[in-house]
Amino acid sequence: MAVRNIFTDDASCLYKKARPVEKFDKKLHDLLDDMSETMYAAEGVGLAAPQVGILRRIFVMDCGDGLIEAVNPEIIETSGEQGGMEGCLSFPERRGYVVRPNRVVFRAYNRIGELMEYECEGLSARCVMHETDHLDGHVYLEKVTEPPEGFTEEQAEDEREPEAGAKAEAAPEAGAESEPKSEPKSKGEAQE
Ligand SMILES: [Zn+2]
Repeated sequence: MAVRNIFTDDASCLYKKARPVEKFDKKLHDLLDDMSETMYAAEGVGLAAPQVGILRRIFVMDCGDGLIEAVNPEIIETSGEQGGMEGCLSFPERRGYVVRPNRVVFRAYNRIGELMEYECEGLSARCVMHETDHLDGHVYLEKVTEPPEGFTEEQAEDEREPEAGAKAEAAPEAGAESEPKSEPKSKGEAQE
């Protein structure tokens, strides 16, 4: 395990679309271990692979309900709306008001290639949307808007549902989508 360098600001790896993971091998496990170690060391709640210079569709998150490792995540459903302050480990010292869905259902493979389904609310839902944006080369700063009049961050914290979080279960179709997609051999990971 090792803490990796987090790319920031105008690093080109933050603005490229990441490719799907094809192999659930030791290299993936090492990357996932490093990503969670890097996220915890930086005191973040989420980290996407492009932020450490790896253009693969992977993110890790822990919004207080335990670690989720998401490989090739797909958003299935979103509902509701929440506005709140958001930050990003790739843009230290900055924060901005972003409107996101309040509830998100997504599927992702775990580290051993099992398809899982997760239902998230509140902060966890915000985090999932933020991290999946990273996998498409988008950063939250593109979505920052003016907070509504009278908005304070403290108020937003108070209104957060204490039990809001992520719950996981095996996706009903687990296995059905496990066919690895064929893709030309990769030419090494971006390390900008
Ligand atoms: Zn981010």
